[in-house]
Amino acid sequence: MLKAPLAIFVFILLFHGVYCVKPRHTIPGQSDKTSKEIFYDFYKNLPKLRPIKQNAIHTLRVLFVEDHSLPALSPKQKSALLRETELLTKRLLGYNIHLSDLGGESIRSFFSSMDKHFKNPSYRYLISELPIDLTDERALRHSISQQVRDYSNSFLIRYFGNIRQGVLWEDHITNRFIWRLKSIQKEKDHYGRELYNTDRLNHRSLPHWIVAAMHLKKADFVITNTVIAGARQGMPIYVIKRGGLTSAFVTYNLHNPFQAAGILPTYQFLSQSAFFRWSRGNLPADKMIRVMSHVFVHELGHFLLRVPEQYNPVGSIHIAPRDLNYYRWYRRIRPELHPFHFSRDKLLKRY
Ligand SMILES: [Zn+2]
Repeated sequence: MLKAPLAIFVFILLFHGVYCVKPRHTIPGQSDKTSKEIFYDFYKNLPKLRPIKQNAIHTLRVLFVEDHSLPALSPKQKSALLRETELLTKRLLGYNIHLSDLGGESIRSFFSSMDKHFKNPSYRYLISELPIDLTDERALRHSISQQVRDYSNSFLIRYFGNIRQGVLWEDHITNRFIWRLKSIQKEKDHYGRELYNTDRLNHRSLPHWIVAAMHLKKADFVITNTVIAGARQGMPIYVIKRGGLTSAFVTYNLHNPFQAAGILPTYQFLSQSAFFRWSRGNLPADKMIRVMSHVFVHELGHFLLRVPEQYNPVGSIHIAPRDLNYYRWYRRIRPELHPFHFSRDKLLKRY
């Protein structure tokens, strides 16, 4: 099936397939080092992950970062999501956690507090060079073809459906990707403004959220009602399939004892646009929190167990949703198979 194992965690995910990218400039004052080399140096010096004890109760602080122009969870739904996730974490991962609700913060204030980190030269590569502008179709096609070539034809048919004879996979997938991402970018907020208008682009950008997660001090997890989607170098196949949308992620944290922080966006569950209703398929309203909490627990697998992305067995919570039909993904999970026990050498040493 897979010719090459895919890395899951954001950093590994970013590295996967980016070696072909030529750094475009050097950072003034940093001798002749390119922004890419500076970023790699920074990454290499991050400490290795320590295991997190299973026989203890862990308190994880959850902050709700809110864009008031977008649909949001009600207070009742938020607390149901936290309680459901605690129970599922015990049942599916074997960890006792308490999710403490820190309340809400506006997305503008949250991003202002992170602004100095976005300007740090260590992240210039991540923030400025990794994203691909949709107008640069050649770069996008090149990046997607780098990923596609790792997979067999039968895998691609299962993942993306059949294609017409004579059409190249990278062309087919790139066209689908562009259509999906453009559909997301055309979404409108409560006031009829496009989500991706220039003064709020950062709020939708994965590299900015990665930096924010790394420097998160007051919380260990952020639940935000924004959407995180865009094109960038090294996207894994399941992100390509979703049109560049990030369901959620976990990465390094520089402050907390877990050495990890996670971000869980909820827009893809809450938008009532034609695109998202079609992409989600039939998600019954009374199942939404339950499905969301499974996505949360999938991320907690990365956070607590340090488990990399899995592709089998079928029914495992550790397999990422491959498209926006989260309800279908949820129905495939078989609780009786859990918790899985992974040998230490199968777990991540680095995010
Ligand atoms: Zn994952």
